[in-house]
Formats: sequence, C-alpha cells, structure tokens
Amino acid sequence: MSYRSWTLKHAKKHEIIVQKLKNRTVDEIIEYFLYDNMIINEPEFCPLYKQKKKCHDMEDLNCYLCACPNFRFKDEVGFKEVNGKKLLSFCSINSKKGSVFKTEDAIHQDCSNCTIPHKDKYIKKHFNLDWKLIMKDIEKEN
Ligand code: SF4
Repeated sequence: MSYRSWTLKHAKKHEIIVQKLKNRTVDEIIEYFLYDNMIINEPEFCPLYKQKKKCHDMEDLNCYLCACPNFRFKDEVGFKEVNGKKLLSFCSINSKKGSVFKTEDAIHQDCSNCTIPHKDKYIKKHFNLDWKLIMKDIEKEN
C-alpha cells in the first residue's frame, strides 16, 4: 500500500471516530484519542493496539495526530536525489529528535525518537475536527 493510500484510509477511520464524538468538547475529543482509551475502544485504529505496543514509549501518548502532519513522503519517485539515493521522506520542521535511515538506494525519515505530534499541547495548537485539513494547513505553513 502506498503512503498516500494509507493516509486516505487512515483519514476515513479518524473521521468515523470524530463523528461519533461530535457532541463532546475539543478537550474531551483529544482525551478520547489517548492511547489508553483507544486501545480499548478503537482497536482497529492502529495495528499496534492489538499487539499492545506503543509507537513511542511515553506516558499520555495521544493518537489524534497520527500520522504526523510534518512527515512528507513521496512514494517511489522521491523528492530528489541525494548522493545517489532517493530522498523518499523528510521532516518539514526538521525536528531535532528526528533522524534518517538509509538503505542501499533510499533515504527515509526516522521518527522513532520524536514525540511532537503525540503531545496534547501540539494537538490543541493545530486542532481541527477534520484530520485532513490539519495536514493541509501544516503543509502550507511549512
Ligand atoms: S521527526 Fe517528529 S515532527 Fe518530524 S515528521 Fe517525524 S514525528 Fe513529525
């Protein structure tokens, strides 16, 4: 599955959950997306839930902004070539906690040590009921 297809599918799942919560306040909606609640009430939202794993080892991990709106990815063609390798993904805010990993022919963004999009404060700052619009707004900003 391409990253684009995945994001479209994920956006749909996000939309269905948000629809269900439409009578709640913004704070309550954000709270609903806490990992500890999602793993029980929305087991299909993330494949890691069934394995009882977290993408990041942090307390109060929040899943509202998964996938990170600062993550840029271009399937196969990539953005440009860097030292003979295709740059397939990068962080648009160049987070200090982000890094890269390289394969024989490609460079990928590595977000495993970055928790920015999983924090309440960041989610509140960029909150929109429509996850796709958050992605678009942040893309414009960066
Ligand atoms: S490094 Fe952090 S801010 Fe950048 S794309 Fe990855 S998770 Fe998002």
